Amino acid sequence: MLTLDFHPTGRHFLQIPGPSPVPDRILRAMSLPTIDHRGPEFGALGLKVLAGIRQIFQTRHPVVIYPASGTGAWEAALANTLSPGDSVLMFETGHFASLWNRMATRLGLKPEFLGLPGAEGWRHGVQAGMIEERLKADTQHAIKAVCVVHNETSTGVTSDIAAVRRAIDAAKHPALLLVDTISGLASADYRHDEWGVDVTVSGSQKGLMLPPGISFNAVSPKALEASRTARLPKAFWAWDEIIEMNQTGYWPYTPNTNLLYGLNEACDMLLSQGLDTVFARHRRWGEGVRAAVRAWGLEIQCADPALYSPVLTGVMMPEGVDADAVRKIVYERFDCSLGTGLGKVRGRMFRIGHLGDCNDLTLMAALAGCEMGFRLAGVKLAGSGVQAAMDYFAGHPASLDLRRAA
Ligand SMILES: *Cc1c(COP(=O)(O)O)cnc(C)c1O
Repeated sequence: MLTLDFHPTGRHFLQIPGPSPVPDRILRAMSLPTIDHRGPEFGALGLKVLAGIRQIFQTRHPVVIYPASGTGAWEAALANTLSPGDSVLMFETGHFASLWNRMATRLGLKPEFLGLPGAEGWRHGVQAGMIEERLKADTQHAIKAVCVVHNETSTGVTSDIAAVRRAIDAAKHPALLLVDTISGLASADYRHDEWGVDVTVSGSQKGLMLPPGISFNAVSPKALEASRTARLPKAFWAWDEIIEMNQTGYWPYTPNTNLLYGLNEACDMLLSQGLDTVFARHRRWGEGVRAAVRAWGLEIQCADPALYSPVLTGVMMPEGVDADAVRKIVYERFDCSLGTGLGKVRGRMFRIGHLGDCNDLTLMAALAGCEMGFRLAGVKLAGSGVQAAMDYFAGHPASLDLRRAA
């Protein structure tokens, strides 16, 4: 039964790895009246958000903002830089990498999908060495782009993008580097310019703490150059007209005015705290949540501790336990949303988001929901994850900076 008129008491615990909880301050900013998108106030707003978002991507180059979900910005990244039949090298880190790979095929590209074998491959990050080896063998430079996911939201593994850049350089290969950090941006450290990324794709509803609805391409000079000769059809997604009009703070079509108010607020919040503070806060939350998973005696989906995601933690179920049955109990009984297992790991794991606007106690509530859900589902636990997370959070006090939202 669909119960759209059912509103539980208190706050819903939205602990999926995106959309993430939207701070009241951003909701209030978004409730301002919609203004004339050709008027003078809009131009000032446009220029301000375009400058702010460049700081978040850590780039001096253009960032294009689309009124679309992240998937649209994926398409924009491919359509602006590539031509029909182009070979692209992608790496299977999980479900989102697989979806981007499928999109490349649908657009008429020839993706080659590298990866580690089986479901076990979804416990690791991008293997830069495999990319280097493959690019070295491509002596004709048929491969036009390398596409990787920075924070793989289906697994909770954050790959080393600088290592992928070094691999491309070591192979002396001219391929563009395209990176999806839809869930990583503004929660996990990300450096578009320093890491030599050509197109970075992101979205609004994860680390930026906004509702879904806008997405981004950060574009290097080399990518812009490639877009001048790329032949995949593009009109709505074409960078040139947007970047041209953005110089005065406007868009060629109606932008998402109220989400841009929200973006303006999000940039103010994130930049006044400082990105390093934001990243440290999410790393600490990740530590606390992983302490709980270990105490339960369950496996963390990410098998490489150096690549633990500060955005979310994947929790693997013991053999024979349906992760979605546990999730359902936690949702129905305790009004807490957890992320489902996607693709190859459906039913085998679930995901706890610790991105965006949380605090120690929202995470404690989510962990308590999980622990009660496990007991109700009859899952045998080694111990109390709630106790372990309380010990972690109490024993590792967050500085005032880390607790300050702006
Ligand atoms: C959420 C997400 C997407 C999809 O973005 P939509 O906004 O749902 O289109 C793609 N890649 C990653 C890594 C994501 O986390």
